Amino acid sequence: MDDKRAEALARLGVHSVGDLVRHYPFRYLDLTATADMRTVQAGSQATVVGRVHDITVKQPRPRLSITEIALVDGTGALIGVWFNQPYMATRFRVGERVAFAGQVVFEYGLKQMRAPFVERLPEEDAGPSIACVLPVHGATEGLSTNWIRRLVAIALEDAGDVPDFLPSALRVRRGLVGLSDALRAVHFPVSSDDAERARRRLAYDELLTIQLAMALRRHAVVDALPGHAHVVDGSSMKALPTALPFGLTPDQETAIGEIVADMRAPRPMNRMLLGDVGTGKTVVAAHALAACADSGTQAAMMAPTEVLAGQYVRALGPLLDALGISWALLTGSTKAKERSRILAGLADGGITVAFGTHALIQEDVLYARLSLAIVDEQHRFGVEQRLALRNKGEALDMLVMTATPIPRSLALTVYGDLETSYLRERPGGRGADHVSTRIVSKGGRPDAYQAVRDAVARGERAYIVCALVDESDATEARAATAEARRLQRQVFPELKVGLLTGQMTAADKHEVMGRFRSGEVDVLVATTVIEVGVDVPEATVMIVEDSERFGLAQLHQLRGRVGRGERPGEVLLFADPRTDDGRARMAAIVGTNDGFELAEYDLELRGEGDVLGARQSGLPGLRIASLSRDGDLLSIAREDARALVSSDPQLVLAEHVPLREELQERLAESWEWVSAG
Ligand code: ADP
Ligand code: MG
Repeated sequence: MDDKRAEALARLGVHSVGDLVRHYPFRYLDLTATADMRTVQAGSQATVVGRVHDITVKQPRPRLSITEIALVDGTGALIGVWFNQPYMATRFRVGERVAFAGQVVFEYGLKQMRAPFVERLPEEDAGPSIACVLPVHGATEGLSTNWIRRLVAIALEDAGDVPDFLPSALRVRRGLVGLSDALRAVHFPVSSDDAERARRRLAYDELLTIQLAMALRRHAVVDALPGHAHVVDGSSMKALPTALPFGLTPDQETAIGEIVADMRAPRPMNRMLLGDVGTGKTVVAAHALAACADSGTQAAMMAPTEVLAGQYVRALGPLLDALGISWALLTGSTKAKERSRILAGLADGGITVAFGTHALIQEDVLYARLSLAIVDEQHRFGVEQRLALRNKGEALDMLVMTATPIPRSLALTVYGDLETSYLRERPGGRGADHVSTRIVSKGGRPDAYQAVRDAVARGERAYIVCALVDESDATEARAATAEARRLQRQVFPELKVGLLTGQMTAADKHEVMGRFRSGEVDVLVATTVIEVGVDVPEATVMIVEDSERFGLAQLHQLRGRVGRGERPGEVLLFADPRTDDGRARMAAIVGTNDGFELAEYDLELRGEGDVLGARQSGLPGLRIASLSRDGDLLSIAREDARALVSSDPQLVLAEHVPLREELQERLAESWEWVSAG
């Protein structure tokens, strides 16, 4: 093979025969299921086969060329359209038999496909060897699809019969095809069903790999060390319900039950509490803190920002005081003298609960008997930071809390080593319709500002969230500053407008939040720094500028800032979505208040590609499995992985050895993460 081609293959991530065998087709052209050009529906994904009738290249503007290839199939015609790809015109000859695959659009009275996938087909009478389902492998410059297809065929032949690493009992029980068959059929299926059976087997392998990694890691973390067996029926725990001004929701009760059971057991807790903003995670965490107090140990509760850490203190400080539990707040802005007092208290055990930010895991912060770490919004912390926290005690119980609504399938994958507890309902009679969301187009601006004035007249307050700016934080802060000035002078001269940006010092942020909370500031203009955790019950109206620039999850988090009190919230999204995708996303955010539902939707829309990377654990990505499509396979793989690890934690039984070897190879660098805990 020449260097150019080897280079091109390397660009596709193909360095070996093995890589080639795993270079799965990204789609198939099913020539047994082609559509007639006359009846094929606009908007549908289809494959059509016909003869090239006409090839034209137009140049309407100096920098724009349009190539059109018209196909006819005896029922009608369909035109493939390419922008600025004039070479497409040279790839085909009139009269040739060609397949197009792609989305059908209807324009200028004609059926078209924009840049469809194309395949030149042999003549129909060329013999029986022609596959009816053509694989389409990812190609790159200098490597045609055809060439790659031939290369894959040779590689498969070379590889011969690949030994199957899956224990055969498992394979049979799950009705999965053998590895050799799967590899052959994924590349060269005889039918779409054949391709799907192959895909399932290979997808199962990917999901099982990740689930085994998670199960092994969980085993290393949870079972390797004897953890703290906390006292969970002590005096603080008993007094807690009476110290609360409200009764718990059933979801809270369940989550507390799960946490308490973990804490009582003499092995480390490894649990994640998932709940949308306002579902009441803080008071659930309070129960874990109380168990520490009753056990004579210590707890650290770490937040990603000072604002959030301050909120723990406001929410939980008085409660802990009432229970006689000592606590402290340690952040980057804690004064030196206060800091050394707190460090002494943590080191001698005089302080039971430490709230704070990263300051809690500085090297010189030592804990006498730390037995519980609670981490909020944990995706904002890096792996090292979580590890640093873990290392502040021995075999700690870990509770991670997140308001980022992760779809269940993703949680089971990315956080598969954690147990999960969910809070779905909102407490205090604030049901799903407590916060309403509307899209406002340009003309609606005066009405939206009127909604702000009305709210303030009722003694309530409003947020105005500035548009995301692509450039730096500094640019964003400047834009927000200018907007705040404009609003104060031109729109709300009679109200008090405040400003909150990520660029401000902690002290300034704290100050403006205080004035907003007290009502001295009526309207708070903010960048997305208010996204996490800000809790002002009187805030009822939120305006978001340019909202189509925000992700769904982010918009959802933002709107969680209003309607946190008794009064209902109103969210006005300025938006002018111009794409189908943008309109669909806006419809989704208006259509549901359930963060998990939105997250599932986001997963379908965007795929899991970048989301999987979120944990930065170096886990292998999914090449063929899809979390939104393969939910059933995921549950099966998880169940199988846990059963395998509990029956044979080192995977040393003869029937598991090939599986372990495969796993080590697939996990490569992450093997250490898996076995280290
Ligand atoms: P989260 O951290 O999950 O966003 P919080 O813990 O801040 O939510 O709780 C949101 C609000 O709901 C707080 O004001 C809290 O006091 C209140 N709250 C929590 N649990 C209940 C409950 N069971 N009944 C009534 N109000 C509750
Ligand atoms: Mg919270």
